[in-house]
Amino acid sequence: MNPASDPSPANAADPAGTLHAWLAQADPSGPTLPEAACAAARQAIALADRLGERAVAARAGAWLCEQLLRLGQHAQVLVAAPPVLQALAQPPLARELAAERFQLMRVYSMAACETAHFDRALDTAQEMVRLAGPLGDATASLKAGFALGVCFERMGDSWQASRVLGEALRLHGPGAPPAQRVFMQNALCAISIGLYHRMHGAAPQPEVQDVLAQGLQAGTLALEGLPDPPDPMLEVAICGNLGELLMYQGRHDAALALLQRSEASAQAGGFRAYRWRLSTSLAVFELLQGRPENCLTRMQALIQDMGEAAPQQTAIRAHHAAYRACRALGRFEAALQHFETVERLERERAMQQLRAQSELLVTRTEAQHAQWQAAQARQDAQTQRARAAEFAASAERDPLTGLGNRRHFDRRCAELLPVLQRDAEPVALVLVDLDHFKSVNDAHGHDVGDAALVGLAALLRENTRARDVLARYGGEEFVIVLPGMGLAQAREVCERLRERVALHTGFCAAVPELRLTLSLGLACSPPYDAAALLKAADLALYTAKRDGRNRLRVAAPTAAQQAA
Ligand code: GH3
Ligand code: MG
Ligand code: MG
Repeated sequence: MNPASDPSPANAADPAGTLHAWLAQADPSGPTLPEAACAAARQAIALADRLGERAVAARAGAWLCEQLLRLGQHAQVLVAAPPVLQALAQPPLARELAAERFQLMRVYSMAACETAHFDRALDTAQEMVRLAGPLGDATASLKAGFALGVCFERMGDSWQASRVLGEALRLHGPGAPPAQRVFMQNALCAISIGLYHRMHGAAPQPEVQDVLAQGLQAGTLALEGLPDPPDPMLEVAICGNLGELLMYQGRHDAALALLQRSEASAQAGGFRAYRWRLSTSLAVFELLQGRPENCLTRMQALIQDMGEAAPQQTAIRAHHAAYRACRALGRFEAALQHFETVERLERERAMQQLRAQSELLVTRTEAQHAQWQAAQARQDAQTQRARAAEFAASAERDPLTGLGNRRHFDRRCAELLPVLQRDAEPVALVLVDLDHFKSVNDAHGHDVGDAALVGLAALLRENTRARDVLARYGGEEFVIVLPGMGLAQAREVCERLRERVALHTGFCAAVPELRLTLSLGLACSPPYDAAALLKAADLALYTAKRDGRNRLRVAAPTAAQQAA
């Protein structure tokens, strides 16, 4: 006997072979029945952990969850899956076992739906949608769409579910392997059943018939696409769904054949949860055939068999079928009990669905609100920046002339002078003062004085470069910094300015005869120090005034200049 095919603790001599054999038994695509497969998966996990085989342990963990899902042991999936998902999200495994991770997410999301943990189900399905995009493969996209659709369906929104699945199939179906398309078509068929139950007796009959027809179309496509030999679980699901739809359409013979085929396959495959569900469908069938006694016997056995492990949906259907059977049999006491159970379970489900829906709505609303807040904050910050910039600019601007003020002069000098000194570039500073300006005010009024200051500012601007610093230093006093200019050049600029002002006639339209003259004091670097240059220029200006105004005077060379 091949030792690898004997995965027992006795075979401790060949741990790798044993691990391999257990793993083969756990494989969902293999022939092992789910109960035995679960046991093998648990053995594989334990051994792989001992051997430090992280990837094998994770794979076995994912398969265990899939087998548990087949058994309808949803609560156990919720416990077993999270640590495996966490391991599968780590870098090397996330790449090597990307498909396993995706499949496990789907399994986890479905189990969470079945146990009404919609928040976890939805989080996982949305994570799948996020991951599927970058993976760029149709199978992943379809699985994500499927998981999301199941969430909506179980949350009571079959319409949304149908839309999500239909879109995923239209978008990704053409590029997907046939097995995946079959999977989705079956899901669409299942959702039609959900829609039928929600609309039956509440919506116009033609609409209900439409839903059945669409479900039938999807289910038929799925059945035709079923690979040979068929995936047993998929076969059970497709035959069960299609059989149920046919039953609602009143095509009882065709329905019975499919329901029986499905039940037999579920039995053979050990798919406990499916078998339970099929049993309720067959019980309803008995009822429709006028055999309430058979229906009741079946449902009593089923309710006993399922016990605490009963999936909510199947429990509701089983008690509902039992209630109808008891009523038909005239056992009103028992009918009432089943009816009350249905009512309680449906109330529970409605509450869970409503809570999930409102959480989804809140999450969406919060997300929208957060987006809105972020946009608002961006806009606020922009406005603030603009305002701050405006404020900073206005804080440095003289409101009458629009020139920089003393603060502007200080800041620009602090920036400029060290750079000029470093680059050994010369710089000149000129102080300009209007002559006898007080008499202008006295003779023509303050407004004319103001207009004259504005006109002078324009002349100063026209006769300086963009690089120069120009500021109103006081009432009728201005300062100009001329970077890069030595004494000779600066003197030329000053003389030209003095002349232009003296010849200028358009200071004030109301007083065309108004003439102004300037006195100027010029100082040059070194030093590269604003205060020292200002002081020297001021002295020169004083000299210009004293010497008769309308003239330029140059500051005496500083000690530094003499040294240079
Ligand atoms: P000097 O040739 O010696 O400089 O004589 P001045 O009259 O120009 O000098 P003084 O310092 O005696 O007077 C300056 C005048 O400038 C007094 C003040 O009314 C006027 N002045 C200062 N700021 C403004 C202003 O914003 N608008 C107007 N219209 N006049 C101003
Ligand atoms: Mg003056
Ligand atoms: Mg003055």
